[in-house]
Amino acid sequence: MSKVRPILALRLLPLLVLALVAVSAQAAKTLDIYFIDVEAGQSTLIVSPSGQSLLVDTGYAGNSGRDALRIVQAAKAAGVKRIDYLLTTHFHNDHVGGIDNLVSRIPVGTFLDHGRSVEEVDGKNGYPIPYEKVIATGQHTVIAPGDKIAVKGLDVTVLTSAGKHLEKRDANANPFCDGLKPEEGESGENPQSAGVIVEFGKFRFADPGDIIFNEELALECPNNQAGKIDLYLTAHHGTHLSPRSVYGLGPRVIVMNNGAKKGGLPAEWKLLRAMPGLEDLWQLHFSVEGSKETNSPDLMIANVEDVDEGKYLKVSAAADGSFTVYNSRNKYMKHYAAK
Ligand SMILES: [Zn+2]
Ligand SMILES: [Zn+2]
Repeated sequence: MSKVRPILALRLLPLLVLALVAVSAQAAKTLDIYFIDVEAGQSTLIVSPSGQSLLVDTGYAGNSGRDALRIVQAAKAAGVKRIDYLLTTHFHNDHVGGIDNLVSRIPVGTFLDHGRSVEEVDGKNGYPIPYEKVIATGQHTVIAPGDKIAVKGLDVTVLTSAGKHLEKRDANANPFCDGLKPEEGESGENPQSAGVIVEFGKFRFADPGDIIFNEELALECPNNQAGKIDLYLTAHHGTHLSPRSVYGLGPRVIVMNNGAKKGGLPAEWKLLRAMPGLEDLWQLHFSVEGSKETNSPDLMIANVEDVDEGKYLKVSAAADGSFTVYNSRNKYMKHYAAK
């Protein structure tokens, strides 16, 4: 028998190799979303199983190109050599600031935005000057709700743009709208944010940019136009209290793109944490404004100290709707099985 076994093992070797190749091919077939730490701005890298990429926002300018470097690092980790689509949600510094640092480091295919800034920037109306320069070098498209962003292997729909939102004919009545009314005095770029819904098979992710109260309300009430989602990126870094209608989205997991001293407000954290059906709330930073009771467990926070660690959260989703969240600081990983 002892002579047979090595021969048997040799015969099985090609099968074993094939099995390993199959397993790694399987493992590669996920939608990967990197929530890059740009210290309470936004930069979210979405990588399709096809290898195509959509980057939402580029973080801040300055800091010796810090945010662009972090984006390039995430792109490298994802095996992405080119940003196929770069969506700038709106023209605040924490979302568009890193643009020229980024384009000097990695090629970008198509630039997408909601249209010209409604706030004066760089002493004029319209696009910020660095943004105007980069879009002149490539493809540029202004997007509207309902438009598709043609990332191969994903279904990406524009959810909000220029103060308008998606209107689905089959949207469901939202039971969390009672008593909610629009607030006075909202203006500027935040309500203009271009947001997206990213779908891969049964998995749905919503990134609403920096929309604030009235835009969230309009999107979610009386009917929830976004539909049910699995993963939600907090609107506007958790810096304001969302209308309770956000409960209608019913995500299993929320990622909060707050900084140590911006966003992640205790009242917003409590409101979101109490969402029916929510399994976990992950944070990019421990919020120093809150206590241990109004922050998630350390395991689920990418940056726990008030220093520029630049740790990211990564979500890998499969077409069956299951997904895993990974914390790059402590390598903690949690799997959410398909429902
Ligand atoms: Zn912002
Ligand atoms: Zn903003």
